[in-house]
Amino acid sequence: MLILVTGGAGYIGSHAVVELMLAGYDVVVLDNLSNSHGETLQNIGRIVGQEVVFTHGDVRDESLLTALFEQYSFDAVMHFAGLKAVGESVSQPLRYYENNVAGSLTLLRVMDKFNVRQFVFSSSATVYGNPAVVPVPESSPISTTNPYGASKAMVEGILRDLSHSDPEWRIAILRYFNPVGAHPSGLIGEHANGVPNNLMPYIAQVAAGQREYLSVFGSDYATVDGTGVRDYIHVVDLVIGHLRALEFIGQSKGILTCNLGTGQGYSVLQMLKAFELATGHKVPYRLVDRRPGDVDSYYADPAYAEEVLGWRAERSIVQMCQDSWRWQQVLIH
Ligand code: NAD
Ligand code: UDP
Repeated sequence: MLILVTGGAGYIGSHAVVELMLAGYDVVVLDNLSNSHGETLQNIGRIVGQEVVFTHGDVRDESLLTALFEQYSFDAVMHFAGLKAVGESVSQPLRYYENNVAGSLTLLRVMDKFNVRQFVFSSSATVYGNPAVVPVPESSPISTTNPYGASKAMVEGILRDLSHSDPEWRIAILRYFNPVGAHPSGLIGEHANGVPNNLMPYIAQVAAGQREYLSVFGSDYATVDGTGVRDYIHVVDLVIGHLRALEFIGQSKGILTCNLGTGQGYSVLQMLKAFELATGHKVPYRLVDRRPGDVDSYYADPAYAEEVLGWRAERSIVQMCQDSWRWQQVLIH
């Protein structure tokens, strides 16, 4: 089977390409390298022992996509390409809607034209907003609080409408919780731009001495120790969930919407302690005010993923920390 992986040079996409190729799929990567490096493709090649087929280009470029679909007979598309910084989406909403919504529309239009109707979409638990029920089931109402989340909810809506209009489509909408970690080889991982927004890369930079301390955003939440609770999932577990979803839609038409999380919540201080224990490095911290827009606690109800995909996350918090730390050291050197 030949899979087009958009955004395959990025953090999650690169790990997906590795697992797809190791599982025997043929892969073509399309990426505009706006948030990634060509070197990642060489490193994927080193992990899998085979060169990665790559096209440098943009999912919004309809003529380029048309040429690509003329050149290759794709069976399915995994669509990772998109912008993902919540704060940036607030200050640059048009850029986010253009990239994430218009980009997805262009891709779907070309797929439809070429009768390629298997699609795996990177959505996000952010579509749940501030969920009323935790652990969060897929039936939780959609409620977005920023343009990034809204762009994901819009594409989800487009996909549902598409599936209703034409039952030939086979679509998996995967709602990620908090992906962390890196490939255990130390060859691929996340390239955070500038000051990291996310907890794990920030902790790793503090442990490495690149930053003085971690600011813990809020210590008065209604959680185990007052700090925010999230569902951290190892990126390799996450992408294995994509392979199960691809197999699932290969067997069944229609649309599947599924959480990808562990079902286990950890607080900021629990993560920090886990990182110190797993790596032997101290992570100094200070308790500061809440970060605007943050919710106190959310983690996945992973039961549906297990039921329909036969998938559950297996990698421990220790592995998440150790793999993040190994990657952090690679980034420094
Ligand atoms: P990333 O930025 O590392 O990867 C995205 C890749 O897409 C990059 O290589 C970038 O160069 C490429 N890209 C962006 N716009 C493009 C375009 N118009 N055409 C072609 N290529 C383009 O991000 P990631 O963390 O790997 O996220 C992948 C997907 O998963 C995104 O859609 C993101 O919104 C979603 N997601 C990520 C997280 C997370 O915490 N990392 C959580 C939930 C959902
Ligand atoms: N967090 C923190 N300090 C940081 C970054 C994050 O205390 O420098 C907290 C944040 O308030 C949240 C958790 O860590 O409770 C996870 O934040 P992240 O941005 O990684 O994920 P998200 O909030 O988008 O789920």
